[in-house]
Amino acid sequence: MSNTENTIHDFDVALICEYFSSMKRQGPGSTEATLKALSFIDNITEKTKIVDLGCGTGAQTIALAQNTVAGSITAIDLFPGFIDKLNEQLIELHLKDRVKGVVGSMDNLNYQENEIDIIWCEGAIYNIGFERGLNYWKKFLKNGGYVAVTEASWFTEDRPKEIFDFWNDAYPEIDTIPNKIAQMHKAGYVVVASFILPEVCWTNNFFKPAVSAQELFLEKYKGNKSVEEFIKYERRHATLYDKYKDYYGYVFYIGKKI
Ligand code: SAH
Repeated sequence: MSNTENTIHDFDVALICEYFSSMKRQGPGSTEATLKALSFIDNITEKTKIVDLGCGTGAQTIALAQNTVAGSITAIDLFPGFIDKLNEQLIELHLKDRVKGVVGSMDNLNYQENEIDIIWCEGAIYNIGFERGLNYWKKFLKNGGYVAVTEASWFTEDRPKEIFDFWNDAYPEIDTIPNKIAQMHKAGYVVVASFILPEVCWTNNFFKPAVSAQELFLEKYKGNKSVEEFIKYERRHATLYDKYKDYYGYVFYIGKKI
């Protein structure tokens, strides 16, 4: 860690979760990107079992539920506050019969081998690492089953030191798209598709809604140094994205278990 800047690991998890609970998304994404990834996956029937890992408050869970005609979806997140929010929305949207939110960890799944058809994971595999997650999840997938994940990726071979240092602190496993594809392949998947998430997934859908959430949070925790530092970190994240978005972003990787 540098002397002057905090890294995301310096902050209290409960604080981070409370802040993100107030937002529709806890990471960059969009319904359009979710549906584009879904378009590469065929044969969804009433028997299809989808598991959405690190679902947060469920923006992508709901997009999946509303755009598949059948099948069950179990959305799992470590943080109970996010699952409560998701379950409230599922009741409101009358999706409770096909979709459920459950507290759990993506590295300790309670499934049989070869049980799941589709593992979804937007903006969350970094919590256990891309390679580790893909390797661990594979046994729970049926042969021919799919994994669809978004992962922070470099767009270029070289990058300015400032942004390299930021990501090296936050998530050193960030890598180039060809390297991520090779890792997915090595873990036992055919990479069916990969595409870069459009900038709006970060700007309109993530950083923009964060502005008012940050103001409210600062107001609520006036004088709390830890909160002030956390918000400063989140704002820096947005500034760096604006400055360096040609060098990195989130990429959807869709793999089929072989
Ligand atoms: N998919 C959501 C949330 C992404 S943020 C979206 O795109 O909006 C990352 C999420 O991973 C958070 O909700 C966090 O609580 C969750 N998470 C962190 N570690 C986890 C773990 N080990 N198992 C399950 N979820 C985890």
